[in-house]
Formats: sequence, structure tokens, C-alpha cells
Amino acid sequence: MSKTALVTGGGRGIGAGIVEKLAAEGWNAVFCGRKEESAFAERCRELETTYGVKAAYYCCDVSVHEERGKLLARVLENFGSLEALVNNAGVAPLVRADILEMTEESFDRVLGINLRGPFFLTQLVGRYFAENKIAGTIVNIGSVSATVASISRGEYCISKAGVAMATKLFAVKMAEFGVPVYEIRPGVISSDMTSVVKAKYDKLIAEGLTLQPRWGEPADIGRAVAMLLRGDLAYSTGQVINVDGGMEIGRL
Ligand code: NDP
Repeated sequence: MSKTALVTGGGRGIGAGIVEKLAAEGWNAVFCGRKEESAFAERCRELETTYGVKAAYYCCDVSVHEERGKLLARVLENFGSLEALVNNAGVAPLVRADILEMTEESFDRVLGINLRGPFFLTQLVGRYFAENKIAGTIVNIGSVSATVASISRGEYCISKAGVAMATKLFAVKMAEFGVPVYEIRPGVISSDMTSVVKAKYDKLIAEGLTLQPRWGEPADIGRAVAMLLRGDLAYSTGQVINVDGGMEIGRL
């Protein structure tokens, strides 16, 4: 029987790359976002026809308590069980404001979507895994911003630093249930999120920001998630997997 993976924010960008790769490896794919469900009917049919899996898109704002509960209930109702959660949905601040100018509204918005949402969705799915004795897998999509300070988007950095600790906390808690929890930490990946700073990163990459001189692609992250869900790192949990072209290596 096919296993089912839930990928938050899987309609575009990195999440779409993850959904594509997991479906290609035989996972039933459920993905969610804030857009209307009708917008992804064709995409789901395409995944089902191409890969012979079951696919569904459900509308869910991960920052809203009731919507997270409804999301899991729909997954279980329509797919029977859930074996993997990939917390990918995330946002950048609407305005890149210096931390001396950042508003509390922006702080709350970014923390609500990037940290509170995935934290409590993981709690929900973690309880489900524990109660049903499912040795599932949980993957959080973090960011190099967990450790690299950008003062024009401090709320984003703080949210990703929180995701890094949430990964460790759930790895400790879920170990007794046989559920590994990982953080994948992307570098600069081509998506809508980075399209607004394309020229800046084109220049930085040309100047040597990454050891591997190119932008990352959503498929790079998709391959890393698929590796974890296959169980290729079975004797490992709570770890960070950098997928960033070698960007995090400090150099003199
Ligand atoms: P995009 O902006 O391209 O896509 C974001 C996705 O998240 C969309 O599918 C969007 O859905 C969804 N989303 C946003 N807010 C919510 C919400 N409240 N509830 C549910 N879904 C939501 O971003 P990326 O693909 O680039 O980023 C994906 C993840 O990777 C994020 O967590 C990001 O922080 C992280 N990341 C990205 C990097 C990069 O260079 N691109 C680098 C490091 C980390 P909808 O279409 O409905 O808005």
C-alpha cells in the first residue's frame, strides 16, 4: 500500500519540487496552501496520471489553529493514514525593514506562519503518529537564515532559528515512537520568494557566495526530502542537512 506525505505550501516553489519528487517515488501526495482548491485540480490529475499515485490539494492557512485540525482530518478521511509531514510553507516579510523599524504586525505574521504554524501542526501529527504507532518521518524546511543574521528581515531569521530548535525538540520527543525529525536547510533557491532579489543573488553567486556556483532549484530540495523519507539516513535524527551549494562554510 502506498504511503502518504503531507507537504505544506506544496503548490509552488520549493514545495512543488518536493511534491513532484515524492510522487515520482510513489508517495501519495497531499499539499496545501492558501489558494483555492480548484486552482490545483489539474495539477493533482497530472501527478496521478504521471506517477500512478493519489494526489490532493487542500486549502489551509497553517497559521490558523482550526485550519490545521481540519487539514489533518481531511487527509485521514481521504487517504486513510499519514506517514510523513514536510513543513515547507513559509513567507518572507512583506517589507524588508531594518530591525529598528520592523513592526510587531510583521513579526507576528512571519512567526505565525513560519514557526507557530509548523510547530503546532507537528504537535498534531506527532500525537497522531504516537497514538497510532506509526513510525513516520517529519521534515522541517529551515533556512540558512537560522544562523546568518540579516537585519532587514530579522523576523524571518528568528522564525527559522525557532524552526531549528523545534526540530531538535520534536526529535527528542518523537524518538520513543520511532519517528525521526530532520531539518533541511536550503541556501539560495530559485522561487517566487527569491525572485524579488534575483539580481542581488546573481551577483553574489557570481562573486563566490556558494562553492557550487549556481542557484539551488526546488528539485534539489525535493531530492533531499525524498532521501529522508526513503529512510536513507535511518540512523540519524534531529539533524540539519544543508542544501546550499556549500554556502555555509566560513572562509577567510
Ligand atoms: P514561495 O514563496 O515560492 O512559496 C511559499 C509557499 O508557502 C507557497 O506554496 C504558499 O502558498 C505557501 N504558504 C505561504 N503562507 C502560507 C500559509 N499561511 N499557509 C499555508 N501555506 C502558505 O517560497 P519558497 O518555495 O521559496 O519557500 C518554501 C520554504 O523554503 C519556506 O519555508 C522558506 O522560508 C524556505 N526557504 C526558501 C529559500 C529560498 O531561497 N527560496 C531559502 C531557505 C529557505 P500560496 O501559494 O497559497 O501562497
